[in-house]
Amino acid sequence: ATPMSIMVASGRGARAGVLFRDAAAIERLRDVDTLVFDKTGTLTEGKPVLVDVRTFGYERAKALAFAAAVERPSEHPLAAAIVAAAEAEGIAIPAVSGFQVVVGSGVSGTVDGHDVALGNARLMEAERVEAGAAHDVAEKPRSKGATAMYLAVDGRLAAMLSLADEVKPSTKPALDALHAAGVRLVMATGDNEATARALASSLPIDEVHAGVSPEDKARLVAALKTKGATVAMAGDGVNDAPALAAADIGIGMGNGSDIAIQSASVTLLKGDLAGIARARALSEATVRNIR
Ligand code: ADP
Ligand code: MG
Repeated sequence: ATPMSIMVASGRGARAGVLFRDAAAIERLRDVDTLVFDKTGTLTEGKPVLVDVRTFGYERAKALAFAAAVERPSEHPLAAAIVAAAEAEGIAIPAVSGFQVVVGSGVSGTVDGHDVALGNARLMEAERVEAGAAHDVAEKPRSKGATAMYLAVDGRLAAMLSLADEVKPSTKPALDALHAAGVRLVMATGDNEATARALASSLPIDEVHAGVSPEDKARLVAALKTKGATVAMAGDGVNDAPALAAADIGIGMGNGSDIAIQSASVTLLKGDLAGIARARALSEATVRNIR
């Protein structure tokens, strides 16, 4: 495209809340035939709310205190929800030491002399925690699309916490438009399979990949490219950065983490997928004008 048409397109994009890093991003978007996206914060609001706590030999307040303590230093949307719930219940949140994040899995640390870990089944496996009882109670919330997390204290299962996160109102119309334009839609989430399928069931999603690590997301993108697809990846989190960098076009959500935005060549300021359909149309118009 000519410098003039690129300038016009970037101006139009900016007015529609779509920022392109460079001319190549504008030109390539129209060729995208596969869109990979994460779940939390991209399809959903990314504002989860704690809806249930099931404990195994612990008082609710005690379990929530441990959970909030290890989540307080975390920047994950799930962390904010747990800290907010503990505060709303008037629970004093103890200090944590040795805080660690396993990106896409959970958090851990020492609280009041106890080893505390909070996250998904993969984290429990890594910590060698027997979490069978939590799998059972997690089934129901997961079937409704909620995220279920496991709390372990001193290597033993202490609680299952479930959090609900609404699908953004703009998600379905945006995916419908992209699907109608012939784009293959692929979800890649670090969350559980049952949760991912429950959310995907009301949306036009062609493929669901659940329980994937940040590196798995990047490998999935690379595998699709190898098969000949032109792949855009949309995501909001630190866990999405490798996949954003691996895609032909990385699309960061403006409401997401800074590293996601830095790894992307397109940023959706409004933080919803509607911008992708708009950006793709803009790319189409720009390139058609000059060919
Ligand atoms: P997504 O790919 O849908 O954006 P993430 O990769 O960020 O999700 O997280 C995947 C899963 O890892 C979550 O569903 C949760 O079970 C667990 N997890 C990630 N970060 C945290 C955290 N800070 N606290 C607890 N669990 C977490
Ligand atoms: Mg996310």
